[in-house]
Amino acid sequence: MESLRCQQCEEPNAVDSEYCIYCGTILNKSQLILCAFHPDRLAQCVCVLCQQPLCETCSIHVDKRVLCTFHQDVELVEDFAIIYTSSDVTEADLIRAVLEENGFQVVVQNFDSIAYMWDGGGDSSVSRSNLSKPARVLVPLWEYADAEQCIEEWRSGQQVQE
Ligand SMILES: [Zn+2]
Ligand SMILES: [Zn+2]
Ligand SMILES: [Zn+2]
Repeated sequence: MESLRCQQCEEPNAVDSEYCIYCGTILNKSQLILCAFHPDRLAQCVCVLCQQPLCETCSIHVDKRVLCTFHQDVELVEDFAIIYTSSDVTEADLIRAVLEENGFQVVVQNFDSIAYMWDGGGDSSVSRSNLSKPARVLVPLWEYADAEQCIEEWRSGQQVQE
């Protein structure tokens, strides 16, 4: 498959990509995109989680990736972002199920009591040492904003039923 290599992080993106889904660098420079917060400034990047265009002042660089001020505290694990954390695995599993039902690619960490294990390398002594850590639900960076909305909609649906 043909791909467009990002100049910044060297990851392959789809040929017609406007921005790199891995680091947020704008790839299609032929179209001028303005910062979502400064309509008089050109955007250099987009937030890898919500895809808002950002000028250099608004871009928060975390490792090789760019985040907006709203998402700067979201913890990233390789190409995934932690969307939900709970010490209650049942609760976290419910969120996992809701996201999976809606077609999201979901990865979980520290789901020990229901025999799920993921640390990027499977069940190892490292992942066993994570047993006391809170359960975490992760989605790919580029699915984060939609997944957030999906959880919100599911929660408001729950409230209507009560
Ligand atoms: Zn990139
Ligand atoms: Zn964002
Ligand atoms: Zn800006």
